Amino acid sequence: MSLAPQNPEPSDAHERRSVEPTVVYAVDAVPVYDQDFYDLVRSGLTLVEEVTVPPRDARAFRVPAGHVFRIVSVEGPQVGDLNLWHANDLSERFYSGKTRALHATHVSTGDRLWSNLPFLRPLATITHDTLDWYGFDEFGGGIHDVIGTRCDPHTNHLLTGQDYDYCCHSNLTRALAAETGMTAEEAEAHVHDVLNVFMCTGFTQDTKQYFMKASPVRPGDFIEFFAEVDLLGALSACPGGDCGASHSDDVAQCHPLLVQVFRPSQEHLINGQLWPTSGYGGHHGL
Ligand SMILES: [Zn+2]
Repeated sequence: MSLAPQNPEPSDAHERRSVEPTVVYAVDAVPVYDQDFYDLVRSGLTLVEEVTVPPRDARAFRVPAGHVFRIVSVEGPQVGDLNLWHANDLSERFYSGKTRALHATHVSTGDRLWSNLPFLRPLATITHDTLDWYGFDEFGGGIHDVIGTRCDPHTNHLLTGQDYDYCCHSNLTRALAAETGMTAEEAEAHVHDVLNVFMCTGFTQDTKQYFMKASPVRPGDFIEFFAEVDLLGALSACPGGDCGASHSDDVAQCHPLLVQVFRPSQEHLINGQLWPTSGYGGHHGL
């Protein structure tokens, strides 16, 4: 709220504020994280591809369904902005807002990355996270958020009047265009709100404003995902570096990120495990 309240509290304000909250979505109503299945998948991984994402740039990568991919910190602390699409239909893409509503503001092992409506199925499941020890700090900050969007040149221009061409939004646009042959204009329309990998963020406790602080990630840390469908991904190494101070400029020290794709040894596990799309009949009351 930018202004002080314009209206007086009613006499029963305390009573109204004292109503107990209810968690909105019972996410345990969907199939729970199958620890045995994912442990079996993880028990024999073979590295099949590596993609290095240069600082202030992005790269696309592909992960077949049933395979595993990791985003790895190398050289120094660095935040990554991740986009995911169904490899065969780019209109199905990661839905940051519903993932946040179903799970939490920050995600870790056992959480799913859900796709947009009308598909609404997990594109990927998080199977390991070396930063899961962090939890929430004294400021309310956590790691791997789905509350931010991605740094972008439009907001930057709005706030500074300057053009900066290496925001995550532009990096993802260039990477998708290079991978698919789209023009930058076509690719930009497919770029969407991200999973902020390794980023440490929260809301200030008094005004609930979005904050960032230096990521605790160190070389060797990684977050790992199981591809629930054939995936096209793009990862940007944010110009904010560890996002401890600035973004959307060339001030921060930045480092590359590494994407690794693995094939599980249990080949038979790959088949027959795909999630269906939404079971809704699609009538919308008509
Ligand atoms: Zn960024």
